Amino acid sequence: MKNKALKRLICGLLVLVASLPLFSFANNPSLKNKDTVASNGYKIKTIVVDAGHGGQHSGQGHFSPGASGSYSLERNVTLAIAFKLQKAIEKDMSGVRVVMTRSSDDDVAWQKRADIANENKGDLFISLHCNSLSPKRIHEVVGHKHNKPVYKTVEVPDRSGKGVLLLVYGFHRSREEEKAIKENLMEGDAEMNSNPDPNDPASMILMNEYKRKYRKQSIHLAELINSEFVETDGRRSEGIREQGVLVLCHSAMPAVLVETGYINNPDDEAYLNSEAGQDEIVASLVRALQNYKNEVESSAP
Ligand SMILES: [Zn+2]
Repeated sequence: MKNKALKRLICGLLVLVASLPLFSFANNPSLKNKDTVASNGYKIKTIVVDAGHGGQHSGQGHFSPGASGSYSLERNVTLAIAFKLQKAIEKDMSGVRVVMTRSSDDDVAWQKRADIANENKGDLFISLHCNSLSPKRIHEVVGHKHNKPVYKTVEVPDRSGKGVLLLVYGFHRSREEEKAIKENLMEGDAEMNSNPDPNDPASMILMNEYKRKYRKQSIHLAELINSEFVETDGRRSEGIREQGVLVLCHSAMPAVLVETGYINNPDDEAYLNSEAGQDEIVASLVRALQNYKNEVESSAP
């Protein structure tokens, strides 16, 4: 889209017609390409690699420093894996360009990440993160008063989380899921992680677009990534979950957020920080991306 006014107008029109099943984007070349997996001669040319979080506030939008382990930080691990993934894609997937949403420690607001993906006409969006569990709150006996125990609530680290988790954008969250997200941290960042604002037409249209065009493909790509992690690398997996991570739906393309491991679990932290672990993660991602690319391109007539 050339300018905001045009984008708004098109967004408004799309809202109006979103409920009409016979409406087709066939005459709009910018929307035609990624409409279905079996598009005419469609090729994956650009993969957006998104290293989660950042260390310095960019001065724009929301700042998200990420989780930490006992000696390492999520934002450093994600950037290291992102650089390796960039190199591996450029080496192993000929004709595919990689766009990085950040290449330094500076944080980039999630809206900006989605803008970078869209401006560069990304075909796929891969967001790299590390998972972490919030501390557990336990009641500890600290003494006795009148023969009754006196309790104090203390927080103890919860290092029990282990393995990978794949997130794709989801709209319908149950109260249990809301609660689990808050308790388990995950990408439990309130601003980045919520439902689109119903009063913002641009946001709503992006959500509808995602639902109509990219949800299935995102889930399929997540399945391919998950099976590489589990079957090739023998990683534990919590599977694929739909969660309201806005950057995934604002990037108008199939998008998967990869929780590469639990940074606050000692085994996972060692794996995530090792060359061998990072190389294994990257190799699995590249195999999954290659499989996805082959499927999409071979299904084109
Ligand atoms: Zn994260």
